[in-house]
Amino acid sequence: MATWVLRDIGELLTVSGPSPVRAGTTEQEAQQQAERALAVVHDATLIVSDGKVLFAGPSSDSPALHLLPQPVLVQSARGQLVTPGLCDPHTHLIWAGDRSREFDLRNLGASYQTIAEQGGGIASTVKATDQASDEALVDAMLKRLDTALCHGITSIEVKTGYGLVPASELRLLRLIHAARAQHPIAVSPTFLCHVLPPSAREGSERERLVAELADTLELAKQDGADAIDVYCDVGAFTLTETRRLLTRAQQVGLLLRCHAEQFTYTGAAQLAAELSARSVEHLEQLDEAGRAAMAHSQTVANLLPGAALTLRLPWPDAAALRHAGIAIALGTDCNPGSSYTQSQQLMMSLACTQMGMSCAEAWLAVTRQAARSIGLGDRGQLVPGAPADFVVWSADDFRQVCQQLGHNLVRSVWVGGIEQVRDGVRTAGSA
Ligand SMILES: [Zn+2]
Repeated sequence: MATWVLRDIGELLTVSGPSPVRAGTTEQEAQQQAERALAVVHDATLIVSDGKVLFAGPSSDSPALHLLPQPVLVQSARGQLVTPGLCDPHTHLIWAGDRSREFDLRNLGASYQTIAEQGGGIASTVKATDQASDEALVDAMLKRLDTALCHGITSIEVKTGYGLVPASELRLLRLIHAARAQHPIAVSPTFLCHVLPPSAREGSERERLVAELADTLELAKQDGADAIDVYCDVGAFTLTETRRLLTRAQQVGLLLRCHAEQFTYTGAAQLAAELSARSVEHLEQLDEAGRAAMAHSQTVANLLPGAALTLRLPWPDAAALRHAGIAIALGTDCNPGSSYTQSQQLMMSLACTQMGMSCAEAWLAVTRQAARSIGLGDRGQLVPGAPADFVVWSADDFRQVCQQLGHNLVRSVWVGGIEQVRDGVRTAGSA
């Protein structure tokens, strides 16, 4: 494989600076710290060899071409912005069916919960997913991975969750693996305990299903799940059930995540933090006690502005999380019911305009912080030895990507040193 030298980079985010310190800093200090963490370099060069970053820094410090592994190919970034590939730490990317009619109904007044109670909502996705062939599901997920890639995403978390019963969830886990094997994006699979099927919502049936899910977790780990996620809310799993599932998952070596405090406050964020969960998701209803518990943990807050926007929920309070010293990541929550988007760029715009985050904080939340929250700690930064996953943007200042609402500013995307998107179009992935 040739050595690639990308020169004439107007602005390079290596995201290799020190992590922002925990609580107690002023607003202004917090912004400065986030910017230092991005480690912005102007007039920079990026050198890639053998799929890894060899050098990322000021052009004046760049090694001479004749000293590099040969052959050497040189490209110009034409003064543009270059950053690590984005990480999407929360998606429900494998499903079948169409819920555009429901989208229309909900916007005209029907609530998410009312639609769910009438057999619409998630039940329709579960049915369509169950009826779809393996091939169709893998195909649909591959198309979504292509869309993610064209939007600058090079690592992603993908949850099961539209099977509900253990055997169907394990099927989806197997299909996520099948898609992963055919695509350059780094995929981290999560086994999701989403909601209980109508046949097991009450009494002994419910108890039996929760026990069965707990018993399935060891198999899920063997079948390649990196993590478990439990949806704790009214209409989904109770706090007691969530504790049981998370505890069992911890015993079998899965990373822990939890959909917490989205519609109602349940105390799940506090529980997840106590169990050293890798991340908690949503947090629209998080209160002071929940923040205090998270502040004493390493648990990352995965905030999902697309769901808050679509469902008209209160915006997650990023300023309060920052003030408590909690690390924040942003995710699309891509799913057909409550957040049908694959644009982390749009999530960054929403975080800045609606949630009180600075552009530097938003960038940190979709790169290093997001990668950390899904256990891919070597991604989301451009340092020697890291995978050469990066994006060349049609922008020359990182703030422009947050500012331009709903535009895809990606020019080219490289994964492991191979160009996968050129001039905004997916290539065949040639070295
Ligand atoms: Zn979700």
